[in-house]
Amino acid sequence: MVAGPAALAAAGAPAAAVARNLVISSANGLRACARAMEILKSGGDTLDAVVAGVNINEEDPEDTSVGYGGLPNEDGVVELDASVMHGPTRRAGAVASLRNIKTPSKVAKAVMEQTDHVMLVGEGALRFARAMGFPEYDLLTEKARIAWLTWKQSLKDPQGHNNWTDGLDAPREKKLGLRRMFPGVDDRTLAWAWQVALHPPTGTINCLALNARGEMSGVTTTSGLAWKIAGRVGDSPLIGAGVYVDQDVGGAGSTGRGEENIRIAGAHTIIENMRHGMEPREACLDALQRVARNFDNDVSRLAQFDLNFYALRKDGRYAGASLWSGPLRNGKVSPRQFVVNDGGDSRLEPCVYLLERKSA
Ligand code: ASP
Repeated sequence: MVAGPAALAAAGAPAAAVARNLVISSANGLRACARAMEILKSGGDTLDAVVAGVNINEEDPEDTSVGYGGLPNEDGVVELDASVMHGPTRRAGAVASLRNIKTPSKVAKAVMEQTDHVMLVGEGALRFARAMGFPEYDLLTEKARIAWLTWKQSLKDPQGHNNWTDGLDAPREKKLGLRRMFPGVDDRTLAWAWQVALHPPTGTINCLALNARGEMSGVTTTSGLAWKIAGRVGDSPLIGAGVYVDQDVGGAGSTGRGEENIRIAGAHTIIENMRHGMEPREACLDALQRVARNFDNDVSRLAQFDLNFYALRKDGRYAGASLWSGPLRNGKVSPRQFVVNDGGDSRLEPCVYLLERKSA
């Protein structure tokens, strides 16, 4: 196992390292970072900024990894996780397995501000959200329902049988599988549904902000792993794993396979690494190395998942880091980039990486 050349060569830090308005996020946060920056520029609070940013993803039915339109659990129910940390007050809030609410990041912020607790889950989180006046919706969009039923069709017993496809009594010439189930759906959507059925995707947005006063906040919000067991909670709502902020040092967050991040408390590890003098990129790569160590550096097992970290230091230095370079396991274009907004348009910058993947 080697740190790839990009780990040494890629950009990831501005020349002038002083506190200033700066927002970074996972690769799906171009609009989120732009909105957060607008709020920072108008003098808004750093947590208000990042939450307003990720609300764009949460409310977007086309983002199938976050909020409304997120891919559901194995029962076809969308369950959302989110966490926030507010640097100036050193407070935190989180929700997990939250149903029916489009913006779990706002509920997490309400847990932080309106309760004496840090985290609410499941039915209790929903009851709290109702009490706070959050409107309820069915979060399962038609696109996500198609993907979920496609996943159910893709599961076969050892004899190749599946209760969700045409039965034994179906006329041979009428065995049309997905096309039969979704006659009006276009080929592109069906191809996408098949892809996400075979390779249950992760998603998520993490967004971190620093302002010119040196204040920092962070948020992570997700629908989690597609087709998860009901009640499964990943890293995103866990303070210290999916997000961590100590504005004396910086902020960090994660996307990708939460189970592996939880086992190294990634975001907190990165902050402690930076506290002890590491650059953001080194701090993230060290966290990824701990993940690799948990698999005895067995590349064949590590190849079965993706994990990304993002770090923003209080002096304005930052990095995005991925476990793997190159294409994703499912052959899709690599998202091994992260978003930076330092006051102009949001832009993508390359992530450093720990391991080099030559082919999908
Ligand atoms: N980290 C999230 C989780 O494990 C998913 C993701 O980031 O894609 O729930």
